[in-house]
Amino acid sequence: MPELPEVETLRRALLPLVKNNICREIKFFRKDLRFPIPQDLLNKGLLNKKVSDITRKGKYLLLHAPKGSMLLHLGMSGRVALQTTIEPQEKHTHAIFRFSQKSYLHFIDPRRFGSISWVPESGKHPLIDKLGCDPFSPEMTAKAMKILARKSRAPMKSFIMNAQKITGVGNIYACESLYHAGIRPQRQARKVTLAEWGKWIECLVDVLTNSIAKGGTTLRDFFDPNGSQGYFSVSLAVYGKEGQPCPKCTKPILRLVHSGRSTFFCKLCQPA
Ligand SMILES: [Zn+2]
Repeated sequence: MPELPEVETLRRALLPLVKNNICREIKFFRKDLRFPIPQDLLNKGLLNKKVSDITRKGKYLLLHAPKGSMLLHLGMSGRVALQTTIEPQEKHTHAIFRFSQKSYLHFIDPRRFGSISWVPESGKHPLIDKLGCDPFSPEMTAKAMKILARKSRAPMKSFIMNAQKITGVGNIYACESLYHAGIRPQRQARKVTLAEWGKWIECLVDVLTNSIAKGGTTLRDFFDPNGSQGYFSVSLAVYGKEGQPCPKCTKPILRLVHSGRSTFFCKLCQPA
């Protein structure tokens, strides 16, 4: 599943192809993905219009046109491929966009949990209106998090994975960042100290940045042809490592399952 680092890498890879370029062609092959594709709005707002920038909020990408933005989400299995033709080259190609001569961006999504939407000029859209802080945004401070969590009885891990509080932290990065920050995932978020929030933000940005650094710098690198589909294999300390020695103290990594999701942590390095 594409996580925040993949989406950020896609953003960077798309920038040179899309930014300050005019969308010359759009072709849709479906009426809907996870949600209906507003084809009329996209044709009206994006076709023959210049895209001034691509921004990201959590795992959403926004391609900014003069009077609104195209909103993309990769869902569980989505990706963008660079092709030289407007004809689909793969099964599950749902939409194609051309921004420059012979550069066709193919939106491919076998499981169709992704989405292609249109955000009007107001910038309001139900998919993004309630999203919390992005880990890289200036609003992501220890103080802001401490205030946000002051009444939360939720365990730290659920809190940081709640998209309405913080957006874009999936299970892998939640486990890894809490491990590096030495915070037990089960601790109540409201009991985490200001200093610990500071440390956690630092560790989160660190693991995300390391992962982004492993992505390609161009779309061609990003979608490497050996089938990895641009999803990164990051070096992990605890995620998926049940029973293996903790990299810091060598005690075995523990795994807990809660609502179908695994949590990996070290009992010694992440005290209760
Ligand atoms: Zn340990």
